Amino acid sequence: MVIKPRMPSLRVRKQKALLNRISPNHKMRSVIMADLPKWESGYRGEKDVDYYLDFIANEKFHILHDVRLLNNHAFQMDTLIICPNFILIMEVKNWSGTIYFDAQFDQVIRTDENGKVERFSNPLTQVHLQRVQLMKWLQNKNLSHIPIEIALIFSNPKAILKASDDMPLDSLKQIRHLDQIFQMTLELEEKYKKIRLNHVSLKKLSSLILQYDTPLFIDILKTFQINRSDIIKGVQCPGCLKFAMKRAHGKWICPHCSISSKTAHHQAIEDFFLLFNSQLNNKSCRDFLLLSSRGAATRILASMNLIPTGNFRGRKYRYSFIDRVP
Ligand SMILES: [Zn+2]
Repeated sequence: MVIKPRMPSLRVRKQKALLNRISPNHKMRSVIMADLPKWESGYRGEKDVDYYLDFIANEKFHILHDVRLLNNHAFQMDTLIICPNFILIMEVKNWSGTIYFDAQFDQVIRTDENGKVERFSNPLTQVHLQRVQLMKWLQNKNLSHIPIEIALIFSNPKAILKASDDMPLDSLKQIRHLDQIFQMTLELEEKYKKIRLNHVSLKKLSSLILQYDTPLFIDILKTFQINRSDIIKGVQCPGCLKFAMKRAHGKWICPHCSISSKTAHHQAIEDFFLLFNSQLNNKSCRDFLLLSSRGAATRILASMNLIPTGNFRGRKYRYSFIDRVP
């Protein structure tokens, strides 16, 4: 059962919102565009994993993606699988070419299709550290009795995996191709026969992790040194993509192509949260949507399924990106 779905990386969504709301000739446009593909390809690799996870996604296996927890430091896990007998941390790499694990120097040498050789630190070491952090986190919650296993998954079916002769057998078992995930869970069920979490405590642990999950704060304007005043305000027309639609009789009407829409503000509200990382109140809503009516802004805010905080006059709204997987 997927408890926390994978979202198109928040970073990708933030960058796309930014590109959509700066002028076509903004000096940073080419920089933002050039930076986008690397974030998109990481997401595609992880998405391939979901096909194989479907085989084990049942009541017994709880799957949480992109989990970031805090001890003294934050630690992030690609995918966390919790079942009654064990927890599995999965790190996914979408690498191609020949990937050689060198145990002596604890490094990985990748040779791509064109013969280009690159050295990386061993990603398995990184997952080991995540395991230590998760153990510590569970200890603090009095849940130290659950065994934690790790897996380094290569999602590109053409990747060739090799390892030096002195690679420990335990490490070799932790490095897998994507199509071996199901087999790996069977092996782990065989290894950990004892039930550590009953149905209720499994659910409780998943909820606890969701509760403490703290997504990384990315200030996308700061990242690309964009001034807030460079952001184009208003509701974008879903037809001609121009700004800004005008509000009349409970609808948005485009002054350029005359299309009308009742929901065109949804994208604008999401853009606000993607770009500004701040809460939204009635005034900032009117300011961003270029809306004069306080009543209209109140109705729009109430209809957007936002998370309200504060009382009537000082009410502000937050937005959950997790609940809204496009
Ligand atoms: Zn239009």
